[in-house]
Amino acid sequence: MVERRKALKTMMKTRRQFLQKSALATAACFSGLPRLGAAEIDASPLNEHRIDSIEIRRVKFRWPRLVGKNGRIGVHGQHHQTNVAILRTEQGAEGWGLTGWEAGRDVELGMGKTVGELFDPAKGIRDGVPKDFDFALHDLAGIILDIPVHEMLGGKGTKATPVYSGMIYFDELEPEDHPAGLDKVIENCAWDVDYGYRQLKVKIGRSGRWYPHDEGLKTDIEIVRRIHETFKDRGVEILVDANDMYSLEDAIAFLEGIGDVPLFWFEEPFQEERERSRKLRDWMHANGFEKTYLADGEFRPDPKFCLELAKEGILDVNLHDTFGHGFTRWRSLMPKLVELDTLASPHAWGDRLKTHYTAQIAAGLGNCCTVEGVTCESDDIDYGDYPIKDGRIHVPEAPGFGMKLIG
Ligand SMILES: [Mg+2]
Repeated sequence: MVERRKALKTMMKTRRQFLQKSALATAACFSGLPRLGAAEIDASPLNEHRIDSIEIRRVKFRWPRLVGKNGRIGVHGQHHQTNVAILRTEQGAEGWGLTGWEAGRDVELGMGKTVGELFDPAKGIRDGVPKDFDFALHDLAGIILDIPVHEMLGGKGTKATPVYSGMIYFDELEPEDHPAGLDKVIENCAWDVDYGYRQLKVKIGRSGRWYPHDEGLKTDIEIVRRIHETFKDRGVEILVDANDMYSLEDAIAFLEGIGDVPLFWFEEPFQEERERSRKLRDWMHANGFEKTYLADGEFRPDPKFCLELAKEGILDVNLHDTFGHGFTRWRSLMPKLVELDTLASPHAWGDRLKTHYTAQIAAGLGNCCTVEGVTCESDDIDYGDYPIKDGRIHVPEAPGFGMKLIG
């Protein structure tokens, strides 16, 4: 009993020391004292922090409106939940981040280890460390070292990257018993533009599943033309995403149909495939869409194959998912893409945590042409200071990812 009380006292003391040190460091940060550059990060404090608690928590969030169908799947809804992992150290540091549905099985693998045994700030999670702790460990290490994640990543990008709304779906089809019509899609675009977005990603691929083929293709062309006409004076750029529901012929017919409407990128016309993808890229080069990026590698990607497509000049923007591919793996992938002169925009659809993680990748690793914005509200999460202004998302200078759990 005495031993336990003694151990508890020591723990409380180290906790207090860490908290005092953090307060001083934060004060220094705001007083304008010079901060360390990425190459000079002293990782040794990570060895002084041992994980003594891992909690997996379910959090709720909601999109600002009902999100309907895309080319491939049905209504996406509005209210959702996800899991986060919260890692705490004996010294009182706490970091958290998005995790998998089965993260609970990995808890034992992290308990009792020092943060330094699990994580290297120059690379990310160490070999063998569960991917489920990738985001939480980046947050925790940033908090212990008192640096924002984008600084840990080297600060190679911009702190205000273009951001697009990824929430323009086939909303004309809802509610099913009384479909709203295409005006609803325009209304949703207006909401997003008022919110601060200057890029809209418009779901297309209506020819695949929800409409008769020709009518679907015609509606895709009509809505993209209408959005362009309605918002061009507000400087809005359009991206399109067919969720792999087009054939090569559909993709070309769509581009012919929109004619001189400028497109920022064409995402997932069909599952990436060397010959078809090359033919489309060549057709775009020869027919006035040479400036439109071909973006792919989101749905069930083969990362090695995507690198080959990048090398061959077929794939312009790699879209591997921020969470699915993983933060640490994105850190090692980005330099390869830079070498191949291929851009990135890690797929962030789902929730705003992924948008903010992706903004940190963009600011830290650079080479991101835009960030996928997922507008969300949550009573469980304080999403931190990531304002969207004039089409750009800004990253905070707070340590870690700069977001907090409520309660
Ligand atoms: Mg997509």
